[in-house]
Amino acid sequence: MELRILGCSGGEANGERLTGLLVNGCVAIDAGSLTAALTVDEQIKIHHVFISHSHLDHICTLPFFTKNIFGHTHEAVEIHALPETLDVLRRHLFNDELWPDFSVIPSPNDPTIRYTDIEAERTYDVCGLRITPIRVNHLVPCVGYKVEDGKDAFIFTSDTAETDRIWEVANDTPNLRLVIAEASFPNEQAGLAEASKHLTPDKLGVELRKLKSDVPVRIYHLTPGDRATMLPQLQALRDPRVSLLDQDERLIW
Ligand SMILES: [Zn+2]
Ligand SMILES: [Zn+2]
Repeated sequence: MELRILGCSGGEANGERLTGLLVNGCVAIDAGSLTAALTVDEQIKIHHVFISHSHLDHICTLPFFTKNIFGHTHEAVEIHALPETLDVLRRHLFNDELWPDFSVIPSPNDPTIRYTDIEAERTYDVCGLRITPIRVNHLVPCVGYKVEDGKDAFIFTSDTAETDRIWEVANDTPNLRLVIAEASFPNEQAGLAEASKHLTPDKLGVELRKLKSDVPVRIYHLTPGDRATMLPQLQALRDPRVSLLDQDERLIW
């Protein structure tokens, strides 16, 4: 399996904490940075996009992506998300006001993108991968994902405050190689983290006690300006599994 990090880290070069992963060149998870991180040729190879939730930092390049792939694909690219998330995309983004409705362009029978409802805890087979959404605890309906090929698995928690189920799933995954987890605000902003349903390093430490596996836990979703404050706070957890995810990193198993 080849996993490319597209944005995600809140690294110093990145002005925003835009979120996107690319698996085996074919499946994108979240679309906060697709068009910024990938060439058009690479974008055209994406056949499935799984969206975790409707917040802008996870979907904001979807419109430009649909325009870039327009005319280059034989089949519609499938946009997989919870029904609540697809409803937001239909009503507020691809509504002809913010962006044309590419689910009926060039025609309803031959569209550029197709919306596909997903259900938490059901597994979807695409591009030789098995992808399972798991509900997490965020301001809007949100899923993390377990991604497996025949051999290895990784888990992406997406944006979440304290949660249990995704850690249970991680503990039940013997071939787990990696967890990508969030920490969004410094410990001093615990109130903001609580109100916006995110984690601080301290809250992440509590969550990681639920993870029994010894795999690397790579942290994403830092606000870039908070990196210098949060790095020592993450190190203070004294959890050798924890390190920051790097921008444009490639992980191969
Ligand atoms: Zn969010
Ligand atoms: Zn986010």
